[in-house]
Amino acid sequence: KLKTETTFSSKTGADEHFSTVPYADVCNIFQEIESTSSRLSIIDICSSFFTRIMKEDSRNLVPTTYLFINKLGPDYEPGMELGLGEGLLMKTISESCGKSLVQVKNRYREMGDLGQIAMEARNVQPTMFKPKPLTVGEVFINLRNIANAQGKDSQNKKIKLIKRMLTACQGVEAKFLIRSLESKLRIGLAEKTVLISLSNALLRHEQGLDVKPTDEVVDKAEQSIRDAFCQVPNYEIVINTCLEHGISQLGRHCQLTPGIPLKPMLAKPTKAITEVLDRFQGQLFISEYKYDGERAQVHLLPDGTMRIYSRNGENMTERYPEIDIRDFLSSSGTESLILDCEAVAWDKEHNKILPFQVLSTRKRKDVDAKDVKVRVCLFAFDLLCHNGKPLINKSLRERQEELHKVTKPVDGEFRYATKLITANTEELQHFLDQSVKDSCEGLMVKMLDGPESYYEPSKRSRNWLKLKKDYLNGVGDSLDLCVLGAYYGRGKRTGTYGGFLLGCYNQDTGEYETCCKIGTGFSEELLQHLYDRLKPTAMEAPVAFYVYDSAQQPDVWFEPSLLFEVLAADLSLSPVYKAGSSQYDKGISLRFPRFLRIRDDKLVEEATSSEQVIDLYEAQSQLS
Ligand code: ATP
Repeated sequence: KLKTETTFSSKTGADEHFSTVPYADVCNIFQEIESTSSRLSIIDICSSFFTRIMKEDSRNLVPTTYLFINKLGPDYEPGMELGLGEGLLMKTISESCGKSLVQVKNRYREMGDLGQIAMEARNVQPTMFKPKPLTVGEVFINLRNIANAQGKDSQNKKIKLIKRMLTACQGVEAKFLIRSLESKLRIGLAEKTVLISLSNALLRHEQGLDVKPTDEVVDKAEQSIRDAFCQVPNYEIVINTCLEHGISQLGRHCQLTPGIPLKPMLAKPTKAITEVLDRFQGQLFISEYKYDGERAQVHLLPDGTMRIYSRNGENMTERYPEIDIRDFLSSSGTESLILDCEAVAWDKEHNKILPFQVLSTRKRKDVDAKDVKVRVCLFAFDLLCHNGKPLINKSLRERQEELHKVTKPVDGEFRYATKLITANTEELQHFLDQSVKDSCEGLMVKMLDGPESYYEPSKRSRNWLKLKKDYLNGVGDSLDLCVLGAYYGRGKRTGTYGGFLLGCYNQDTGEYETCCKIGTGFSEELLQHLYDRLKPTAMEAPVAFYVYDSAQQPDVWFEPSLLFEVLAADLSLSPVYKAGSSQYDKGISLRFPRFLRIRDDKLVEEATSSEQVIDLYEAQSQLS
């Protein structure tokens, strides 16, 4: 059985994961990656480094991996966030690197990179004694202690820990230490690249350095590790299971576990009922209402506790204190389960669904069940695990049958997604219209039988199609794009930003590629809100991982922190935008983009990917 919590002990400061790899080695690799643009070369650099440190001691791998992805543990565990503010870091740099605060601030205004500033300051600072070199284990545990520091004296505690590390920094170490503390490593290293490199290194470690595995073996290992990670998104567990049982045994040991949120299955967009029918030709499929709420992965643990996780694995149980999954179980035979649901705002009086905007007015923290005004109904559409048995490799029909067996609907609190099985165009059209009348966004259409209907964690699958009413006349889907920059407003919009430069995320390169300017769909109030929210993230210059054309320079650049959901009339090839340009000669851009809403439930790396933009562009060309 997998433990749900990681085993690092941040309290004792030393434990079985304590790694003696010099931190300087990691930083030198970061430096090399920063100046390398070829993704294959970056994979080589990372794989060789991971292999080397594993040869010394395989326990080095977990903390090193976390430093590479600039995280401190799994996303679903609390207390793993760094992202320290620039004020605190400037003060610390000034106090420990022999510069006045004004000097640090001025330099920051000039170059916008605190890491670089700390490095420059450290390297000209005279030191009497050569400090003891930092190790990966030490830095990792210190970063964890900094993230976990709480209470009255926490600020001082953080400063003390950072200073202690800074004074031991040499060469490029200070640069990457400060950037890690800010949660902005900025070296163009995507997490996907780290995962591939990890799997290469684990394979080499397992097979011995003299064996050159075939491409097939490499691909299989990568797939196994990726599958395991989608079910158990915890590097510590996946790496240690590989080391203990071998890559081929991962599937047996890293399985769905209540208490560990798996990465949810995602759907591909479609523009028309005919497209749906073409896809499922001759095979049975089920159409369900597509509810407009918030994805909720509900876990019941064997110890009787319950957790609700968001789309990106954040624990949001506290947000829904009024929900108790045990009220919705049909018999006493259930000890644990994992359900996939949509949480939707519910009007109890009139027994109907309320719009997403109402749900978003609910408090996110410290919610007391007594004070809850906006009620929520869970619409369940899948059962992924029951009493310790993963069900993802069963057909959707079987999973839903099981779902109906082990749970029971409770009016206005727990229901099943409304569904219909038909391949008749008129019936489907009618069902789509009905879904919209019933305050849903459209339909989710899913393969019903056979292996193609298995639940594919994390995958945007052709076996799930979304058909939203909004899409029927647009590009086929809305896009969630990262705000990279802004243009100052004129006229009525003076004093705020009037337009924004948006980009998609290239999951292979870790870069954001520009794809449109947007200025439509914003109220004055919203523009003010966006100004207040984005201004603190402004940078003097764009970062190296923004791909843009100099003709499209905005007035202000931002750190990637916010996603806009936008709808466009269509997509076209563009000489000045860059979406998909690493695979396509030209970039792809959105025509007539219109703002729909802010996407706070997605991480910036979950922005629409370049690959998805290319898919949408190509789907559109096929139709026309
Ligand atoms: P994506 O998740 O595809 O990146 P997104 O977050 O913008 O995009 P949508 O395009 O709205 O989401 O579609 C998928 C989401 O629809 C799911 O993540 C889930 O929250 C929601 N949903 C509502 N009803 C259903 C249903 N019956 N089956 C599956 N998902 C549903």
